[in-house]
Amino acid sequence: MTEVFRCKNCLNMSTRPRISFDRRGFCNACQWAEQKKSINWKKRLLDFEIIKKKIKKNKNEFDVIVPVSGGKDGSYVTHQMISRGLRPLCVTVNPPLRTELGYKNLENFKKNNISLIEVNLPYETHRKLNTYGFCHHGRPLFGWVIGIFSAVIKIAQEKKIKLIMYGEDGEAEYGGSNKLKNKSFFPIEFVKKIYFEEQYNKTLGSINNRDKYWWDLNNIGSKDIKLAHWSYFENWDSYRNYIIAKKFYNLEDKKDKNIGTYTNFGQNDTYLYDLHCYLMYLKFGFGRCTQDIGIDIRRGAMSRNQGIELAKIYDDEFSNENLELYLDYFNINEKKFHKVIEKFVNKKLFKKNGKKWVKKFKLL
Ligand SMILES: [Zn+2]
Repeated sequence: MTEVFRCKNCLNMSTRPRISFDRRGFCNACQWAEQKKSINWKKRLLDFEIIKKKIKKNKNEFDVIVPVSGGKDGSYVTHQMISRGLRPLCVTVNPPLRTELGYKNLENFKKNNISLIEVNLPYETHRKLNTYGFCHHGRPLFGWVIGIFSAVIKIAQEKKIKLIMYGEDGEAEYGGSNKLKNKSFFPIEFVKKIYFEEQYNKTLGSINNRDKYWWDLNNIGSKDIKLAHWSYFENWDSYRNYIIAKKFYNLEDKKDKNIGTYTNFGQNDTYLYDLHCYLMYLKFGFGRCTQDIGIDIRRGAMSRNQGIELAKIYDDEFSNENLELYLDYFNINEKKFHKVIEKFVNKKLFKKNGKKWVKKFKLL
């Protein structure tokens, strides 16, 4: 294995899929944060106005679909669409093992006179896909991750809505592929290749054909429906989104902090997200805390040294509190659960000490 290293500006690791570094050792997310300062955002918003005019010609009941969860980012994008004179249809795909807070925030969001379609994926098929994702790819939310794309696209097709506005291009913002950062639209193929990491066909192969409807992306072409990230048109700032969502959509925070990090907001609508982050940590050597640190360093709210101290405390955190919930959901026993985890641990980065996985690398 080539040497594992971290970004010289944030703490992103070289193990992160598709990440790239420049000569200074800055990751692509940190380079992007610099480049964003000289982007002509006015021009990009004008691009959006042109798209808007075209859409308005369709005279549909709704102009644009915004995928939401009741969290900060979807609320912010909805807010932008409405303030710019568009009529959004919001779509949420309810997650498995949803938290009380996730439920509450969606209820708060609805109270703003917003049209919202809630998709409840068929429980057992959804559970099977998540179980397959967990056991075969170490991705306990994989059935949902596919579903939040495919089900939303299905609804766009059915309602003849030509544009879906997502939040940020996570690859450019947090580290990964640079392909989309200067593109106003992105193809469905990109989603399959990058977000689903080419595990899509195999995973769908694990369920019956007649159960595939909500996850089936075949026969849907990008030419009928345009997919875009709002982060292309306006400088993305997840902390600003959080403030706006609190102000206008009554977004509530968790009373205590999220597991695996120091923050108490964002991605707290399903209990499975904690497991997802723990597996990310064991696969690649960085967890939820490192991701949050990167965002805070890039927005100038934290020093790299402060980040290192926080990552030491929180990055490997996993709570057994929800273990029973996971075992029950995946219908496996504790022994099998730990066996699955073990299968995905990067043994070059971690060694087993008793029951715990201990990192072999230094946090520098
Ligand atoms: Zn970086």
